[in-house]
Amino acid sequence: MAEEAKKKKGPSPGVLALRKVVDDVYEEARQAKKRGEPVGWSSSKFPCELAAAFDLHVVYPENQAAGIAANRNGEMLCTAAEDIGYDNDICGYARISLAYAAGYRVGRKFDPETGEFIIDPASGKPLKDENGNVVIDEETGKPKKDPKTQTPYEELVNINDIEALPDGEEKERRLNALKPIRQNLMPAPDFVLCCNNICNCMTKWYENIARMHNIPLIMIDIPYNNDVDVDDSKVAYVRAQFDAAIKQLEKISGRKFDQKKFDEACHNANRTAKAWLKVCDYLQYKPSPMSGFDLFNHMADVVTARAKVETAEAFELLAQDLEQNIKDGTSTLPFEEKKRVMFEGIPCWPKLPALFKPLKENGINVTAVVYAPAFGFVFDGLDEMAKAYYKAPNSVCIEQGVAWREGICRDNKVDGVLVHYNRSCKPWSGYMAEMQRRFTDDLGIPCAGFDGDQADPRNFNAAQYETRVQGLMEAMTAKD
Ligand code: SF4
Repeated sequence: MAEEAKKKKGPSPGVLALRKVVDDVYEEARQAKKRGEPVGWSSSKFPCELAAAFDLHVVYPENQAAGIAANRNGEMLCTAAEDIGYDNDICGYARISLAYAAGYRVGRKFDPETGEFIIDPASGKPLKDENGNVVIDEETGKPKKDPKTQTPYEELVNINDIEALPDGEEKERRLNALKPIRQNLMPAPDFVLCCNNICNCMTKWYENIARMHNIPLIMIDIPYNNDVDVDDSKVAYVRAQFDAAIKQLEKISGRKFDQKKFDEACHNANRTAKAWLKVCDYLQYKPSPMSGFDLFNHMADVVTARAKVETAEAFELLAQDLEQNIKDGTSTLPFEEKKRVMFEGIPCWPKLPALFKPLKENGINVTAVVYAPAFGFVFDGLDEMAKAYYKAPNSVCIEQGVAWREGICRDNKVDGVLVHYNRSCKPWSGYMAEMQRRFTDDLGIPCAGFDGDQADPRNFNAAQYETRVQGLMEAMTAKD
């Protein structure tokens, strides 16, 4: 392979297929709601195979919250949740989701007389001339905005107020003014599926949604595991809950449990998990045929559609694309890979460009991500399924956590580690200082931490982050 991989242009067939999978999940849920079928909201590591056995439509608030945050509306929704009484210390995903559950949406401002959207002059990309140069406004001396990319002012609205309006032009106009992104148009829930293998904040978050909408909550309790292994008593405890969940799902769907459909969902979920883990493993190549940041984008599929055959096929296609990149000496990384790091934690979705910029400037590729392979649940049969769902990043003991990180750092040949101390995710960030001390000591590689938040942009400071990346680069270079 060429020393410096060439930048691969445009989205590959695998990426396009993955985008379609997530779009379809949201669209099918909207259509199901219109037909009067029940739609569920589920935590990301709830065993999705159970609902799939009943052909139930399920959407994922964590994925939705990440999307809302990446679309720069995280602060608006977090503040809305705080205004109705949820504490600022609660996870940003939970605040966004609770505000959404209470009816809050992002609306585009319009002139009530003309119905025209009111364009925010600060929005949009710089206008470029036919040679690709930025056009400067003679009056202000600043770059002109490309009018085609400018968007309306946004405001917080409540769907309950809009739906209470009498049918007619005004109601129609306000519904059409909802920001047209799939996360802002997700249907309200008829039941919720919660598994606390991620954290206990999840339990209270879903209990609140269930209470707010007066709908059933199906809870799978998977406690924190102090041991590396999952013993038989733990498996039995979770298996019994699967049985209870199946009974509840029978009631909600009005159908009997279909073993054939369940087996098919498990088969698809395993196929997806294996293809996803294969995709993650391409980061082991040096230089890598992909940017580690790509994995963050593809996580939407592994969260929202693990049990669908289309997801497995799309990841298999992506693996083929990456294989081709290796043959062609190309990469999705838009710069030369000089250093490789593990990124610990969930990214700051509202600040992805700010996160990427100093990495690009220093030639650092993220070639290991703890968060991504954690969704690769591979199992055979119900007992193994119970065991697999026990292994979530925040529910395993520190020994297991250290071993995971050391394995991935070695396999993916990293020169250093960048740790996101995520204010939203207390369980993850809480044990990270000790975890980081142990695995960086064992591996003898430098590590830098920065403060941020996965969804609330108020908790991220770009200057601090840039300084930490710079420091990490210096420490990694000093070891050459
Ligand atoms: S695991 Fe962390 S990020 Fe996920 S819901 Fe719990 S607190 Fe929030």
